[in-house]
Amino acid sequence: MQKIGVIGAGLMGAGIVQVTAEGGYDVTWVDISDDQLIRGMHSINKLLDRDIEKGRKTKQEKEKVMNRISSTSQVQTLKDADLIIEAVPENLDLKKSVFREIDQIAKKEAVFASNTSGLSITAMAAVTKRPEQFVGAHFFFPVTKMELLEITPGLLTSAEAVQKMKQFSSKINKTAVECKDYPGFIVNRLLIPMVNEAIYLVMEGVDPEDIDAAMKLGANHKMGPITLADFVGLETLLATMQGLYDGFQDSKYRPCPLLVKMVESGNLGRKTGRGFYKYDGNGNKLIEEKNQAAVQIT
Ligand code: NAD
Repeated sequence: MQKIGVIGAGLMGAGIVQVTAEGGYDVTWVDISDDQLIRGMHSINKLLDRDIEKGRKTKQEKEKVMNRISSTSQVQTLKDADLIIEAVPENLDLKKSVFREIDQIAKKEAVFASNTSGLSITAMAAVTKRPEQFVGAHFFFPVTKMELLEITPGLLTSAEAVQKMKQFSSKINKTAVECKDYPGFIVNRLLIPMVNEAIYLVMEGVDPEDIDAAMKLGANHKMGPITLADFVGLETLLATMQGLYDGFQDSKYRPCPLLVKMVESGNLGRKTGRGFYKYDGNGNKLIEEKNQAAVQIT
C-alpha cells in the first residue's frame, strides 16, 4: 500500500492524515467542505512547526510530510487509493452512503476502513461489494499523540485485510490491538461504563474532586473519571453509553440519569465552560472550594 485516501477533515481526519503522511504514505484528503480542508491543512502545518521548534523535526522533514498531502473536495481522486480511511461524523446512514459512493470509484483491491467509535463494521461493510476488504480502524484523540489503533474485522472480513491494516499501523507508529465487532470495541467498552458509574457517585452526593482523587491515587489513573467526562464532552459520553445500551440491550449499560440531565441542561463540559466543573475561556479548570463544584445535587 502506498496511496492512502482519508475522507473527513475534522478533528480525527486531520490527525489521521498527519500520521499517515509522517509514515511515508501519499495521502489524498477529501471533504465536502473546502473550509474544513483549509482549516485541517493549517492545523497540521501548525503542529509540524511546533515539532520544528521542539527539535523533533527539521524544516526539510516538515516539507516532505506536507508535500505528501493533497486535499480536495473531489471524491473521484480516490480511484487510485490502496486504502481509504473514513472519518466523517458518527452517523450510520451517512457512513453507509459514503462507502456506497466510494465502492463505485475505488479500485477493486482497495481496502476500506472506518474510524467509527462504535457503529457496526459488519453493517457498513454490507453496503459495499467488498465486505472481505473492510475493517474498523479506530484511532484515538489526539491522533498524533495516542499510540493505540483498534482494528476490528467485520463478520466477513478476510485475515489478509486485517494483516494489511496491522502493517499500516506499524508503519505509522501505532500499536494495533484486534477487537471483535461489538459496540465499544475494547477501550470504550471498559472506559465509558466506568465514567458513567462515576457519575452515579456524583448523583449519590460524592464530591467530583474526591472521585477524581480516588481514581488517580488509588487506581493510578492519569486523569480522574469526572475530569475525563468533562474533557470528552458529556453529549459524546451519553451517545457512546447509549450505543452500548442499544447494542447489547443490557441494563448494565443504562446511562446515568444525571448524565442525561446534564446534557439536557446544555452544560457539556470543558467546551461549554461548565460541566461537572467550571472552566475559563481557555478551557482551564477553575479551582473552587471543596463542596462547591459546579453541580450541586444535594
Ligand atoms: P468532525 O465532525 O470533527 O469531522 C467530520 C468531517 O467530516 C467534517 O469536516 C465534515 O465536513 C466531513 N464530512 C461530513 N460529511 C461528509 C461526506 N459525505 N464526505 C466527506 N466529508 C464529510 O468529526 P470527528 O470528531 O473527526 O469524528 C469523525 C469520526 O471519528 C466519527 O465516526 C467519530 O465517532 C470518530 N472518532 C472521534 C473521536 C473524537 O475524539 N472526536 C475519537 C475516535 C473516533
